[in-house]
Amino acid sequence: MNKRITGKTLDCYRQLAGAAGLRLNEEEGVIYGTFGGYQVLIHPSVAGSRVYYNILTVQISAKTQGPALSKQDCKLYKKEHQNVSSLAQNHNLITLILKNITNQEKLRAVLTEELQNLTSYLRLKGYENCCQICGTTEAETSPCMMSGVYTQLCPDCFQNASQNAMIAQQESQTTGENVIGGIVGALLGTLIGVVCIIVLSQLGYVAALSGVVMAVCTLKGYEMLGKKLSTKGIIISCILMVVMTYVGDRLDWAIVVSRELGVDFATSYQAIPLLLQEQIISGATYWGNLVIVYLFLLLGAVPTIINTLKNKKIQGTITRIG
Ligand SMILES: [Zn+2]
Repeated sequence: MNKRITGKTLDCYRQLAGAAGLRLNEEEGVIYGTFGGYQVLIHPSVAGSRVYYNILTVQISAKTQGPALSKQDCKLYKKEHQNVSSLAQNHNLITLILKNITNQEKLRAVLTEELQNLTSYLRLKGYENCCQICGTTEAETSPCMMSGVYTQLCPDCFQNASQNAMIAQQESQTTGENVIGGIVGALLGTLIGVVCIIVLSQLGYVAALSGVVMAVCTLKGYEMLGKKLSTKGIIISCILMVVMTYVGDRLDWAIVVSRELGVDFATSYQAIPLLLQEQIISGATYWGNLVIVYLFLLLGAVPTIINTLKNKKIQGTITRIG
């Protein structure tokens, strides 16, 4: 994932790192180093596809012989530190999120102060730096980016992760794509999408949801039965989505026609072009409706495809930050 920070933000982050006596990795957009005896990683907060540069997340990998931080401890900590929006411990990972501070001077002061507070607090609780995966406190850890996530790893875990990444990469290169399986999977996915279009429409909604369901189910279907989702798979899935969305919309109309005219379903389906030609069904309504359904499909498909490609790119990758 390209997290490179640029322009004004880069200057701010350089100064942030400098103020806390830490270093900045510009490629990965992360501040790292030792603060108060702890290995810290500081990065902007991410929600969905948005990055909040002024809401800093501080990560420390540490563990204690004593009791780990309880929810109550974290709540109390947050209450006592007005610039902290949350503190949490998940296994060996301690995460502190600061409040949104737009004034850069204040942000620098707050970060340094809160790093001091947090590291003193952890020391008091008997926390020691450790590897985020195996939890060893014996070996020196180094900051890494593993499958798009920041982690502190000991040399052994780093080596394991690198080997696994290499094996996974080789496997994904040699695993043949099962195109037939993929098409079957995608078709099954589109059927769910078709059902969704019909059900929601019969309930009186032209919902963005049906487009999203169609897109997600088709792509997932291809990936599950085709073993992997290549560019070829994405193109095939897209064609199937477009065709099946048309079919779904027409089936939906056929239900209406069959109900209104009292004829059987198959006849209704076949009669739609004729009904359009004779203007019994208004062309504007029919095509207008179809365009809306396609727009929703686009709305669902584009983010799904972007996310799939992005995840594929970062999955199983590992790089050293510092
Ligand atoms: Zn380890």
